[in-house]
Amino acid sequence: MQTPAELAALHKQTFNAAPKLYAAPGRVNLIGEHTDYSGGFVMPAAIDFSTLIAISPRTDGHFFAHSVNFNEHIDKPISELLTVRAKSWSDYPAGVLWALREKSIDVSAGFSLTIVGNVPLGAGLSSSASVEVATAFAVLGTLGIDMPLSEIALLCQRAENAFVGANVGIMDQFVICCGKQDNAVMIDTRFLTYTLAPIPPDVRIVICNSMVKHTLADGGGYNTRRAEIEAGLHILQQHRPEIVALRDATLDDLARWGSEMSEQSLRRCRHVITEDDRVLAAVLAFQSKDLTRFGELMHQAHLSFRDDFEASCPEIDILVNLANKQTGCYGARLTGGGFGGCTVNLVAADHAAAFTKAMHVGYLNATGITAEIYTSRASAGAHAISV
Ligand code: ADP
Ligand code: MG
Repeated sequence: MQTPAELAALHKQTFNAAPKLYAAPGRVNLIGEHTDYSGGFVMPAAIDFSTLIAISPRTDGHFFAHSVNFNEHIDKPISELLTVRAKSWSDYPAGVLWALREKSIDVSAGFSLTIVGNVPLGAGLSSSASVEVATAFAVLGTLGIDMPLSEIALLCQRAENAFVGANVGIMDQFVICCGKQDNAVMIDTRFLTYTLAPIPPDVRIVICNSMVKHTLADGGGYNTRRAEIEAGLHILQQHRPEIVALRDATLDDLARWGSEMSEQSLRRCRHVITEDDRVLAAVLAFQSKDLTRFGELMHQAHLSFRDDFEASCPEIDILVNLANKQTGCYGARLTGGGFGGCTVNLVAADHAAAFTKAMHVGYLNATGITAEIYTSRASAGAHAISV
């Protein structure tokens, strides 16, 4: 990928204007899966892969964006850009402009953007939110508007929900805005507050992409899982009306009234309730520098995701089992929506290279598939870059 100085030079060559530069990372979720739509807790970290945007203002009311990755550009009047979705990569930056305008921010003068990123696209590391947040930082910075980070995150989520049309939670945009070097970010998704949890600098986050994505008939099993959780929640609410979301329920509630639910609802609810507890315990583990404990919590989270939420798959379980056998690996689990995608592993830095090699070889031998493996530290959230 281009360095910031190279990107600035490219932008200047294309638009004959000196740009400002902004960066926004991708992210990985360390623990806390399928808790966000129950008002619960998640603990992602921003990663060392990012999207860079060079931006300069225009006066002709056009949005001109060039994606180096796609080797494509779009050039449209803002009024047209914000009324018709292009169903392409340009919807992500355009969606952010749309969401800014919805907040009565005047974007009508237009902007020139040059975009380049090294967040793997479509690998579950949220390159989409990274483009959105980088765009929001770039446009707000150009307009000289100061906006609280949580508001920027909500705005970018709205861009993806309402303009792009993807039903995503707040986690990605939030951690991409609020990430801090060498810290995980525990987000309370009900109150949109967060707690930083320090990750020792001699630990690496290794992400193994299984390269498989099993699509179930109903769109990945997501809709069924959500309906099962809703049904379980509804039963608990009949006994304890003060339960607004599963975040308010306890294992004790499940022990008392779980028998009124379907077996599936009971297990999905148990996953969410125990996962919230694990996230809170994981903060304490990082705060007390107890990586062994953190690894145990990752392991329990994987078993719960696999057995109670039933969203793992054979390839992912192979990766997790392989990881658990490697020296220097504290913990491994399926991360993201499930049914394929990536595992996240916490590995001692001086074992990370050997870990990566062993995972490549072991996974190839077991499945015939070459995994993509990314190594990262927890990185900073979005920021301006000076060149
Ligand atoms: P993920 O967020 O997991 O990477 P998504 O499908 O949500 O996967 O988002 C990927 C999409 O985001 C890409 O197909 C593209 O439209 C957009 N995108 C990501 N990075 C870039 C980039 N550098 N330039 C243009 N578009 C990008
Ligand atoms: Mg995405």
